[in-house]
Amino acid sequence: MLTDAPIDLVAFDLDDTLAPSKSPLPPQVAQLLTALLERTQVCVISGGQYQQFRDQVLERLDLDDDAARRLHLMPTCGTQYFTWDGETFTTVYARTLTADERDRAMRALEEQAKALGLWETETWGPVLEDRGSQITFSALGQAAPVDAKAAWDPTGERKGRLRDAVAALLPDLEVRSGGSTSVDITRRGVDKAYGMKALEEQTGVPLANMVFVGDRLDEGGNDRPVLDLGVRCHAVGGWEDTADYLAETLIPYLDSARS
Ligand SMILES: [Mg+2]
Repeated sequence: MLTDAPIDLVAFDLDDTLAPSKSPLPPQVAQLLTALLERTQVCVISGGQYQQFRDQVLERLDLDDDAARRLHLMPTCGTQYFTWDGETFTTVYARTLTADERDRAMRALEEQAKALGLWETETWGPVLEDRGSQITFSALGQAAPVDAKAAWDPTGERKGRLRDAVAALLPDLEVRSGGSTSVDITRRGVDKAYGMKALEEQTGVPLANMVFVGDRLDEGGNDRPVLDLGVRCHAVGGWEDTADYLAETLIPYLDSARS
């Protein structure tokens, strides 16, 4: 599959692909990502906001100027885009929701979560978050420990019910179940496929020359739209798989293709 076309850019999901959910890159991944950036362009694309990219990714990488220029950051599924300007990672664009869209989204999430008995009062930070281009419901708050999140909705049934109830009230907006306890609301048509198409436009690298790595390429998963778009994809079960793929497959392949 790797030999189908040249690889000029490798894009990664963040949570449970490069790092455990909401956690920093493990040192092994940081090292391999740095090695990859010496060889090709890299994008990290996630439903999370820029602050997470900074805390989970950028603070764990020690990049020289050339490597930093090859790193593309797409928070909130690519409705925001950041690149290195020689001194700092800076916004290239940000496509935010209108005040009306934001207010209706927040109201619908709170009302429906309360009606369904899913509005928790003991949380780690606010349940609703305005990310500019995305409103996010996190049942236990953004800062909830990973095990508490995993225990809250192991089958995805609760956030599925909330998603359906809210989607019925907001036909003009896109309502999707996101990470382990979250429901995300964006403009219609904004998912990781949207972000990947924006990445193609911004970088000039054709989708055919990209590879995407993600943990939720299954039907209904938040990485799935990238597979459906026709991008070459590699599914992982967690950061350990990603590290193996980088070390054993991708980096050796790029080296052999170059020599
Ligand atoms: Mg993920």
